Amino acid sequence: MTKQTSRISGFHKLSIPERIDKTLDFAGITAAQTRNLFLNTGNIPMELADQLIENTVGTINIPVGIATNLLIDGKDYLVPMATEESSVVAAVCNAARQCYDSGGFTTSMSSMCMIAQVQLVNVSNPHSARLQIIEHLDEIRALCNACDPVLVKLGGGFRDLEVRVIQTAQGPMVILHLIVDTRDAMGANAVNSMAETIAPHLEKWTGGKVYLRILSNLADRRLARVRCVWQLDAIGGAAVRDGMLSAYEFARTDPYRATTHNKGIMNGVTAVVLATGNDTRAIESGAHAYAAQNGWYSSLSHWEVTATGDLAGSLEMPMAVGLVGGATKLHPMAKANLEIMGIESAEQLARIIVAVGLAQNFSALKALATDGIQKGHMSLHAQNVALMAGASGAEVALIAAKLVALGTVRVDVAEQELSKLRV
Ligand code: NAD
Repeated sequence: MTKQTSRISGFHKLSIPERIDKTLDFAGITAAQTRNLFLNTGNIPMELADQLIENTVGTINIPVGIATNLLIDGKDYLVPMATEESSVVAAVCNAARQCYDSGGFTTSMSSMCMIAQVQLVNVSNPHSARLQIIEHLDEIRALCNACDPVLVKLGGGFRDLEVRVIQTAQGPMVILHLIVDTRDAMGANAVNSMAETIAPHLEKWTGGKVYLRILSNLADRRLARVRCVWQLDAIGGAAVRDGMLSAYEFARTDPYRATTHNKGIMNGVTAVVLATGNDTRAIESGAHAYAAQNGWYSSLSHWEVTATGDLAGSLEMPMAVGLVGGATKLHPMAKANLEIMGIESAEQLARIIVAVGLAQNFSALKALATDGIQKGHMSLHAQNVALMAGASGAEVALIAAKLVALGTVRVDVAEQELSKLRV
């Protein structure tokens, strides 16, 4: 047998079927069924999949579920969520149902500005250099805006600059922040081009050397905010409320808990970000950095009691999502999902996403403070376990119900029950 090598030159030049064959051959897979899996690109045309990333061999479909009951800023929404995790969509529906009658979610947005960073090193007098750069504000504005006339025409473009001197192990660095309103674009390419354009000018003005020119995903000039009150009656009384507040306080204080608490928020957030073809990693890195803004990692959301004893939740986090650029405009499902929500601006989408994040957080806190997370998860999880054990068709529901009744949702038990059923 010839030795398989991953050193393949010109893989990118092959057609998708050729790449699939090469990959399957490498793995020693001969099943036509596997080849067909790769060839079936679902609701994204194969040519588009090939254009979006490099070395494409296929796609992976993730279920899209609809979050119902969402009343956001007085408007009803059905929100598509793309996730592989059971219970996530149901959690949002439940939370939104429990605040629908009392007015739902109220949202707002800071600005739509992104930050691009330019790193300047080898500057002998960094504090003077800082002021020298600021003195060129008008020139910097003109240079940046000339990079993207389309953005300027749409009311966006350069807004401000910020220059910081940071002390590093390699000495002081002068860090320029370009603050740019990117309107309905996430804006990575727009601001990166501006940073690259400004770079040689900075070197000329200061005598320093520029290295990095790239946006910051800590998009704290682009914060989406949501608040909501859940009435005591709707959530099941003071004991539930107090348990939820105690769970929140735990998350606010302890990073081990805060990480899982915020993961719950991101279950909702990432699912909508993904369903609309936006950059999930950009949102996630921004969220976690923002959660550590006070110097320690803490809860992204806040929970408190209102004057009337109800439960108030609020969430503020960076939300750099766009309607143009990236896959959003290209992926047919992303376009359809935006249409379902009737999205007209990136700001509207950002505000819906944080509402979903807060709803998700409410449900997780409530489940944890009452029955525990497993009870709600159990029936959905049991279905997955039944499928893993090999159940199909009507068997899935039967086996899942049996697992829940037994209180043991395990694959080995599902396999035993499946054999009994098939006898
Ligand atoms: P883009 O450059 O494809 O599109 C944005 C451009 O579209 C604007 O600059 C503007 O010229 C034009 N435009 C047309 N209509 C507009 C409108 N209504 N509002 C605003 N602009 C409009 O996309 P982008 O948003 O600059 O880049 C997003 C992509 O960059 C994503 O795929 C992301 O994954 C990727 N990216 C991310 C990072 C990061 O997060 N660190 C880094 C590099 C690239």
